[in-house]
Amino acid sequence: MSDLLDLNAVEARKALIKKSISAVELTTAYLGAAEATAGLNNYVNLTAEHALSMAAESDKRINEGAPGLLEGLPIGVKDLFCTKGVTSTACSNILRGFVPPYESTVTSNLWNAGGVMLGKLNCDEFAMGSGNETSVYGPAINPWQGSDKVDLVPGGSSGGSASAVAARSALMATGTDTGGSIRQPAAFCGVVGLKPTYGRCSRWGIVAFASSLDQAGPFTRNVADNALMMSAMASYDLKDSTSTKIPLQDLMGALDRGVKGLKIGVPREYVMDGMDNEVVNLWEQGQAWLREAGAELVDVSLPHTKYALPAYYIIAPAEASSNLARYDGVRYGTRVDADTLDGMYEATRAAGFGDEVQRRIMIGTYVLSAGYYDAYYLKAQKVRRLIKDDFDTVYQTVDAILTPATPSAAFPVGRKIDDPVTNFLNDVFTVPANLAGLPGIVVPGGLTSNGLPLGLQVLGRPFDEAGLYRVAAVLEDAAGFTFKAARIAGGGS
Ligand code: GLN
Repeated sequence: MSDLLDLNAVEARKALIKKSISAVELTTAYLGAAEATAGLNNYVNLTAEHALSMAAESDKRINEGAPGLLEGLPIGVKDLFCTKGVTSTACSNILRGFVPPYESTVTSNLWNAGGVMLGKLNCDEFAMGSGNETSVYGPAINPWQGSDKVDLVPGGSSGGSASAVAARSALMATGTDTGGSIRQPAAFCGVVGLKPTYGRCSRWGIVAFASSLDQAGPFTRNVADNALMMSAMASYDLKDSTSTKIPLQDLMGALDRGVKGLKIGVPREYVMDGMDNEVVNLWEQGQAWLREAGAELVDVSLPHTKYALPAYYIIAPAEASSNLARYDGVRYGTRVDADTLDGMYEATRAAGFGDEVQRRIMIGTYVLSAGYYDAYYLKAQKVRRLIKDDFDTVYQTVDAILTPATPSAAFPVGRKIDDPVTNFLNDVFTVPANLAGLPGIVVPGGLTSNGLPLGLQVLGRPFDEAGLYRVAAVLEDAAGFTFKAARIAGGGS
């Protein structure tokens, strides 16, 4: 069984098409792995029967000689995606028991390409958090451990997705990224995560957090698998008015193009107080790797970087407060009855939303309220434009930007949950890309002295996911990151 789990997605696809393995065998191995690693709490709903019947269909299509791009590959889905007939809760009490009568566009694309759904993955409630600790199902755990063997967070909000891919209980997984929720967990769990350009993947059928920032993207074990999954996920969608018609580039073809002649920017404002030395060292190492591969490294300035976090933590809650107004106890999930209609709304929302979500709703309604709108929300929107302008200017001279992924490695479960502001700092390197709508990828670069993964982030021009994969493939090659998490299905090292 463990050798099936050793195959990455590209290898598994080849073996499936050659019929040296079957989709049912592969899916069975992953379902077993999910059960064996259940202590990591990364699945909130393992849909074994459904998975096996999808896998049997895949085997049929392979036998008929008509395999899709992801035929027979087992995929975990963040619980933020609506999946038809399968409970979808955004890991919130308020959506407990909600079974959507429709499928999100992104997941439809995956199943149309032959992907097999393993189940729904844990995440922060409504994708608000950086450690997967706000989930109503309890925290997902990182399969990596430092020498002290303390349980660590997998990052958030797509913590279950990153944890499952690292623990080999999903070959691939979907995530969403509003301020870093794909890239930060990818870094914490030593896997590859891409946040595509805003508009690249349809948002239709994904529980909305902050609509102008939300993007879906893939989690995989390596860069090639990521390009493969992304090739199937992205599509123009009439049902999402912000989805793009700009054609997706040949992502797999970008992988071996190298970086010779590319100009890579290194933003000086990303050197920040409180950053671990090991993070700085890896960043410098990343620059050296790209230089050795023939890229030109250029010192650049993104002067408004320091305003990105404050602007994000106004804009994201503002949009969230409006998006979450729909959870009123009438249309979905939980209802707590009361004598009056207003009383029912209040009781439902008080019981249905956790602390972090309530905090965001309060901040959001405050910054949108008459008298404060101009001072906070409008100001934040103006700052957002300046941040976007910084990138536009820099991209006139460089092709991509290299930064650290996170200011530190994964932290212990429970350490930051009571300190929202420290928690917010996790997103310092990832949030600017969401505000500017740009694509970003995180690749594992190395381990800390305590044995925990650290990631490097590459940011690209709008709609240049291929350019990101080009740079990411070179970094991956140079880093030679073959370490495995300690708590992995089939035994780690
Ligand atoms: N950690 C950030 C937040 O809590 C980002 C979350 C996300 O990208 N969904 O808002």
